[in-house]
Amino acid sequence: MSRVWEQSLQEELEGFHKAGLHRKLTAVGQGASPYLNWQGQRMLNLSSNNYLGLADHPMIIEAQIAAARVGAGSGASRLVVGHDLRVQELEDAIATFKHTEAALVMASGYMANLGVLSSMLGSSDAVFSDRLNHASIVDGIRLSGAKHYRYRHNDMNHLETLLRKADEQGIRKKLIVTDTVFSMDGDVANLHEIVKLKEKYDAALMVDEAHAGGVFGPCGEGMCEEVGVAEHVDIHMGTFSKAFGSYGAYIAGKRVWIDYLVNTCRSLIYTTALPPAVIGGIQGSLTLVQEANTLRSNLHAKSDYFRSALQVNGFDTCGSTTPIIPILIGDEGTALAFSKKLAEQHIRAVAIRPPTVPSNTSRIRFTIMANHDQAALEQAAEKIVSIGKELGVIGHG
Ligand SMILES: *Cc1c(COP(=O)(O)O)cnc(C)c1O
Repeated sequence: MSRVWEQSLQEELEGFHKAGLHRKLTAVGQGASPYLNWQGQRMLNLSSNNYLGLADHPMIIEAQIAAARVGAGSGASRLVVGHDLRVQELEDAIATFKHTEAALVMASGYMANLGVLSSMLGSSDAVFSDRLNHASIVDGIRLSGAKHYRYRHNDMNHLETLLRKADEQGIRKKLIVTDTVFSMDGDVANLHEIVKLKEKYDAALMVDEAHAGGVFGPCGEGMCEEVGVAEHVDIHMGTFSKAFGSYGAYIAGKRVWIDYLVNTCRSLIYTTALPPAVIGGIQGSLTLVQEANTLRSNLHAKSDYFRSALQVNGFDTCGSTTPIIPILIGDEGTALAFSKKLAEQHIRAVAIRPPTVPSNTSRIRFTIMANHDQAALEQAAEKIVSIGKELGVIGHG
């Protein structure tokens, strides 16, 4: 191995260790279930995005197996051989679900954001992005070369100031992009205000419903449907990898946007279509999610309980109003120590550190699932409070 490279890699990795920022992959069993296995131990899983508990649902698994009988792989990009009829049916079903003219299935949420933003935006355009938006949005914007305005988290005055600035510079095409539910804070975008600003400044609006799909909206359509702004959104993006319990992502909107993407979106054009099993699984989960009202209300009741149990004891839950419930800790070392103590108590919840969150806002991020046992959540909350006191994250009251 090249000495230069080896030395440089080792130095950088050592830097991560020293800063408490080193990450490693760990093997767990049943990582999407309420209890997972880690090093031979059964642990309460407060880390999965499988909010409705659908990832091991027999109907989705059966749908995947049945679809896999057609073939294991899809063989080519959709633009090369054409796609399976089932993909067409699925996209029609997604468009109906999202009340849009058309929809596209994409390989993953990351690829959807990367491809859509980099193909929609050019260097003479401006994009306005919440500072806490997902990394895949940031990467798509960077790849596009568009003028990148990052507004302070949910700060509508700041967003308007930046929109006005772009107008003054004569920038013609403007796009506002936001997560609807923020993945590390569990709070919600100010969608009504964003829609007002989008109309006032004649911008387009793209939303990322990754953590809201399945969880919010009368049939799990997402947060835009929940708060009644869906029809004002130009590009709806969401994933099937979280509450839907399977894999892949979608883009939905007016036909003209979708047509444009088919012609320009490189992460659609230059990648092999999803395998039949995944398409089958998505079909199964799309049906289940729309019927999951009981699961949704269980999920919200448990999330509300867990959040207030932490709040009344003095934890800062970062404005969460969703099943994503962080507790703010601050420095990386304490966050890691907290996570380690949780593991000793058979609770799996990891420390989220920079660069995933801004520096000095390291936190433990808990996620609730509809099929969590209420008594287990109550015991976990007690343990979390006692660790919080021990580490001085909260007062002794
Ligand atoms: C998880 C996530 C993605 C990426 O989706 P994948 O399907 O996992 O690639 C994109 N945006 C947000 C907000 C996410 O939380």
